[in-house]
Amino acid sequence: MAATPRGLSELLERNGVRATPRRLEVLEELAHERDDVTAQQLWTRLRDRDSRAGLATVYRTLALLSERGVVDVLSHHGGEQCYRLCGAEHHHHLLCERCHRVVEIQECGLDDWVVAAADRHGFVATDHRVEIVGVCADCRRV
Ligand SMILES: [Zn+2]
Ligand SMILES: [Zn+2]
Ligand SMILES: [Zn+2]
Repeated sequence: MAATPRGLSELLERNGVRATPRRLEVLEELAHERDDVTAQQLWTRLRDRDSRAGLATVYRTLALLSERGVVDVLSHHGGEQCYRLCGAEHHHHLLCERCHRVVEIQECGLDDWVVAAADRHGFVATDHRVEIVGVCADCRRV
């Protein structure tokens, strides 16, 4: 993960997003997060760091970043969009339904199935997303 400020601005430019200080601030805060966050949660964290970014700006920035493929969107907090800065490689997500832990899974053995399933309906598959929902090891111990 490109967590240095320099790495982050390169990540933005690579995806065609101008690296403004506000966008970098949002992305840097997101890079600190192990799991994922809603716009509201991220805004609260920024405010605790004396940032002057408004909630609307945080929403807009996250929407832009996900639209350009810089961050991933997941939805498991009661339908609210959650954002995560993941690696650039193709991956899937493992989500804990109790504590909302997110794990990035790098290996994908789905290509044959995806191509065949799409083909049966006359589609050419260009991408696929998979979220595995379950209960993480910590939550299972409780
Ligand atoms: Zn991801
Ligand atoms: Zn859990
Ligand atoms: Zn895959």
